[in-house]
Amino acid sequence: MKQSKYILDEKRMPTSWYNVLPDLPEPLPPPLHPGTKQPLGPEDLAPLFPMELIKQEMSTERYIEIPEELQDIFKLWRPTTLYRAHRLEKALDTPAKIYYKYEGTSPPGSHKPNTAVAQAYYNKKEGIKRITTETGAGQWGSALSFAGALFGLEIKVYMVKVSFYQKPYRKIMMQTWGGTCIPSPSMETNIGRKMLAEDPDCPGSLGLAISEAVEEAVSRDDTHYSLGSVLNHVLLHQTIIGQEAKVMMEDIGDYPDVIVGCVGGGSNAAGLYLPFLKDKLDGTHPDLRIVNVEPASCPTLTKGLYAYDYGDEAGMTPLLKMFTLGHEFMPPPVHAGGLRYHGMAPIITHLHKLGLVEAVAVHQLGTFEAGLTFARNEGIICAPETDHAVRVTIDEALKSKETGEAKTILCGLSGHGHVDMAAYDAYLSGQLEDYEYPVEKIKASLEHLPLNGK
Ligand SMILES: *Cc1c(COP(=O)(O)O)cnc(C)c1O
Repeated sequence: MKQSKYILDEKRMPTSWYNVLPDLPEPLPPPLHPGTKQPLGPEDLAPLFPMELIKQEMSTERYIEIPEELQDIFKLWRPTTLYRAHRLEKALDTPAKIYYKYEGTSPPGSHKPNTAVAQAYYNKKEGIKRITTETGAGQWGSALSFAGALFGLEIKVYMVKVSFYQKPYRKIMMQTWGGTCIPSPSMETNIGRKMLAEDPDCPGSLGLAISEAVEEAVSRDDTHYSLGSVLNHVLLHQTIIGQEAKVMMEDIGDYPDVIVGCVGGGSNAAGLYLPFLKDKLDGTHPDLRIVNVEPASCPTLTKGLYAYDYGDEAGMTPLLKMFTLGHEFMPPPVHAGGLRYHGMAPIITHLHKLGLVEAVAVHQLGTFEAGLTFARNEGIICAPETDHAVRVTIDEALKSKETGEAKTILCGLSGHGHVDMAAYDAYLSGQLEDYEYPVEKIKASLEHLPLNGK
């Protein structure tokens, strides 16, 4: 009999996070202070983050213990299931073996609470009462609101204005968990007021919402800021996904030839593949391929510049060395899915620079087509972001069919799409089109980089 579903006993859930920093062949370029442009010290980040997270951001310990209180909370949805996609394999008539690790069973429906809950925990321990953040489509805002409810923290979410009005359900989820969600730009911050004075109809952007959330956090002692992707400590928290997957694949007696994940800021993909990358670095599995999938409408890794850039529009955050489309990058409205951040996690940037991971950009029509194939065979309706990984997983399986090589593919299924059905509706009713971000526009946006693009 075929086995489709692999479930890890709670008792075998990983008890530490895996930190890739000490295993990197070359050290990561340091973050720089936005004012002095000199390397940052821990104290520079203290107005934004609790010291325990700042230590994790810079840590050189290979394994960092997960506090027991957090492990107990994770058990609300972890360990997550690893599936073998027998029905999809059959539909594709491929000799490839396809596995997927499904993060959509968390209460907010994605991988994001793996770090949201950890960040809320360390803020609470440091006596913080409130956390501000930004959200685009609303997934991060809902994950952090869920985490805030668990620890009695006040969560204030600046949601990109167009999404706030177009996508009310995530906002209602935030409110249900006790969070406050307001459209950005808002009248609550200097940068918000300035933008509204210039353009009362400003639709907002993720970079602008970050500026508002950061401004409020630095102006109050009882308030910190939280970021849902990109930073080292966020990727660290997500490594629980890959560590679980590794134990489960060991139990099965299999090992991936290819790992595929979708990347916005890069946290779910890195969380899945970093524990496996360790085997590539130490020579146990030198041929392991790792593929980061991004949208052609926001091609950070495939068309961005490798340079220091701000994380936000106003230039208030530290400078990170990353592949970037420029902090003034405005995502095109025709694109339905998420994954629209201008930058990429410094860790993924660095690995790509070193040739240890690959990147591919895909068009959105192909991603929804793959999402439908997946849903009609495996049942799960993935988030539009996740469909990017599904697209390339299917492409890899079809390549396997052509060559006749029975590759083992592991796909990161970052979340479900139940709150994104409007995007599926747009696809099914033929309203979506492919959009490639024009090279000239990328060039223009890259002219405004700090340090002249160094
Ligand atoms: C937020 C999100 C992403 C993109 O974020 P990463 O940090 O790149 O993982 C991908 N998939 C889902 C379902 C998300 O909610």
